[in-house]
Amino acid sequence: MQTSIYHAEHEAFRKSVRAFLAKEVVPHFPDWEAAGCVPHEVYQKLGDLGMLGLRVPVEYGGGGEDGFLYSSVWSEECSRAGVSLGGAATHMNLVIPYILRQGTEEQKRRWLPDMAAGRRMGAIAMTEPGTGSDLAGIRTTARLEGGHWVLSGGKTFITGGINADLVVVVARTSEHADRRVGLSLLVVNADSEGFGRGRNLEKIGLKATDTAELFFDDVAVPADHLLGEEGQAFRYLAHNLVQERLGIALGSQVSAEKALRITVSYVKDRTAFGRPVSSFQNTKFELASCHVEVTAGRALLDQAMRAHEIGELTAAEASTVKVYCTETQNRVIDRCLQLHGGYGFMREYEIARMYTDSRISRIYGGTNEVQRVIIAKSLGL
Ligand SMILES: Cc1cc2nc3c(=O)[nH]c(=O)nc-3n(C[C@H](O)[C@H](O)[C@H](O)COP(=O)(O)OP(=O)(O)OC[C@H]3O[C@@H](n4cnc5c(N)ncnc54)[C@H](O)[C@@H]3O)c2cc1C
Repeated sequence: MQTSIYHAEHEAFRKSVRAFLAKEVVPHFPDWEAAGCVPHEVYQKLGDLGMLGLRVPVEYGGGGEDGFLYSSVWSEECSRAGVSLGGAATHMNLVIPYILRQGTEEQKRRWLPDMAAGRRMGAIAMTEPGTGSDLAGIRTTARLEGGHWVLSGGKTFITGGINADLVVVVARTSEHADRRVGLSLLVVNADSEGFGRGRNLEKIGLKATDTAELFFDDVAVPADHLLGEEGQAFRYLAHNLVQERLGIALGSQVSAEKALRITVSYVKDRTAFGRPVSSFQNTKFELASCHVEVTAGRALLDQAMRAHEIGELTAAEASTVKVYCTETQNRVIDRCLQLHGGYGFMREYEIARMYTDSRISRIYGGTNEVQRVIIAKSLGL
């Protein structure tokens, strides 16, 4: 079964992404993993090639391509090459869409050209040390004083937090009986006085991605850095998280497919008891079972991507595909690692890195338990 959502122009784009990754990323990736960060200049190279601003309209310095499929090709190729580019995916698929959707004309002109060119990278800061799943419990506050929002609080686990030049911060700007009202989005320049970065957090996987704590100590944010309407951030987040979850599902699906591919090849080469490991019935059944799950995941994902392209993917559908593809990914990679024996535990083997890199997919973008809460609501429960 072939996936059919892509057209000739997507495949041409795929070729250039593949060539870029092979030349500019794969050879340096182990160094970036060791450093815990992708060098900022790499984003400028990506910007020069037009890859970061694909969906940014031409008048703001982008490629003017509508829809999610180019970003999907990009994400598929990164998974295939076994690399991640720090906060690039967040920048392209989350931060830029917030500015495109919620920004005024003046804000778009102010930020998008630099963001499309990779001169300024964006991050999104929702999670705090005291609250992650329960976003309405955000404690970072901002109060309007003499033409500025005065922002105070702290965020954690922020993807791209070390490299970020612009951070979209979710802060409480007013109190209401309904806790979901009163949160706002503020765009903060990383060179503002009172803005600080904490540690680049040490993770079990995604080693080349910078994930940081951020602090705001009475940062004066100009009033015209408010994105969208005051108090409405929860609504914006709920809308934009649909695409984030679809993106996580996509990356997970591609990595499950890859795990299966490399394991089929490994078990044919490896011998035990004088026979290839592939000749044992257990190996065949394990890999056949993985194939069944991965095939079902691809069908579900394609259906969700088609719905998203025409603006019809609902929050519950995005949660469903996120749960299915991420849990399939984790199961498949675990079974594939088992078939590698002890080599599967060695980081020099790709399956070992895939195992640790993939564990996050059931947690970020909203945990799979939170996805189940959303799905259950859609069932009337
Ligand atoms: C590598 C990485 C990158 C990240 N990138 C970003 C980023 O760029 N920006 C950002 O803002 N955040 C980011 N996050 C944060 C991520 O979205 C949160 O970690 C996630 O939403 C969970 O929040 P938490 O860690 O506070 O867990 P908690 O909310 O404390 O959850 C703990 C456990 O309780 C469960 N739970 C919570 N509520 C319910 C419920 N109602 N019903 C059942 N179970 C429940 C959870 O599922 C989980 O198992 C990142 C996290 C990581 C690890």
